[in-house]
Formats: sequence, C-alpha cells, structure tokens
Amino acid sequence: MEANIGTARITLILGDITEQETEAIVNAANSSLMGGGGVDGAIHRRGGAEILKECKVIRQTSYPAGLPTGKAVVTSGGKLRAKKVIHTVGPIWSGGNNGEPELLAEAYRNSLALALNIGVKTISFPSISTGAYGYPVGKASRVAMKSIVEFLKKKSGIEEVRFVLHSSYDLQIYEKALTGILD
Ligand code: ADP
Repeated sequence: MEANIGTARITLILGDITEQETEAIVNAANSSLMGGGGVDGAIHRRGGAEILKECKVIRQTSYPAGLPTGKAVVTSGGKLRAKKVIHTVGPIWSGGNNGEPELLAEAYRNSLALALNIGVKTISFPSISTGAYGYPVGKASRVAMKSIVEFLKKKSGIEEVRFVLHSSYDLQIYEKALTGILD
C-alpha cells in the first residue's frame, strides 16, 4: 500500500528491513545500544561489527547511562545496503497508562527529525516495540501512522517513509491504521 502526504510517500510492505536500499533504516534498539534479538540482532548480524563499534563510541561519548526511550542516534550502515542506521528505543508495553503512546510517537518523530538533519530522504522503519517489548500491534500501528503523517505534514524534505512489516498479519494491521488516518 502507498499513500502521498504532501511531497512524501508512505509505503507499507512485507519484508526484511536489513535488505532495504533506502538511505537509512531504523533499528528498534534497546537503551544499551549493544545489540539484542529481533530487528536489532538482524541488523547487527547483517551490518557487521562496524555498527556495534560506533554504538560503543556513542555510549561512551554521549549516553554513558544508555539511550533514553524515545531518543534516536545514528551510525553508519556497515555492510548493509542502507548507508545509515538510526537507532531508537521504543517503550516497553506495561498496560498503556505509563506514557507508552507518547514515547512511541517520540521514537518515530525523533528518528525522522534526525534523518532530516543528516540529509536522509528515504527511510525504512520496522514495527517498533511490537516484538519483545510487547506493545499491541493494533495500538502501535495507529501511533506510528499518526506520528509519521503529522511529521510529514509539518516538515518537508523526506521523500519516502517505508514500513517493513515482518508478517502479513502485521502488514494488514498497519494498512488498516494508515487507511483510518487518511479517511
Ligand atoms: P522491540 O524490542 O522494539 O519490540 P523487536 O525486534 O522484538 O523490537 O520486534 C519489532 C518487530 O520487528 C516485530 O514485529 C518483529 O517481528 C519485527 N522484525 C523482526 N525481525 C525483522 C526484520 N529482519 N525485518 C523487519 N521486521 C523484523
């Protein structure tokens, strides 16, 4: 599915984020920035050791206590097709009344703002927080689509925001969320 927001395009596809040729891909990292399971593990495996090396420098120089939830930082893409990896930390779901929606929206907004700052025009996102972090995918998809559509309406410079969903079930849920926002 595709939708145009001003001069930008949002696309939703089924696939593997590590294979995308967009200028940047986003990693659903944890605050340690030291790698993990899910998307994080796949990105470090495919991207090689260079990404972890840069993450260690970021920890030492900017975030000794770890990257706070909702914030975003950038490394190179190592051996990936994408030149840059934007690492952001989504919230861990704990019932929905602990600021999770706002923190998830922040993770998307800060990733897009960082992309604009470094001149990235095409970017791929995974479904942040809906794996190990347990955020219900229906709720997460609505937060994701809303924060991205609002960002694209306010700021120009991004050409494509691609969502790479890992199952056809997730793809359907995200399509429903995007359709709901465009109506
Ligand atoms: P979080 O800790 O933020 O929940 P996860 O990596 O556990 O992050 O899961 C986030 C989503 O990413 C899940 O829907 C998972 O199925 C999906 N996912 C896992 N590997 C990939 C991949 N290679 N490409 C795209 N999505 C992936």
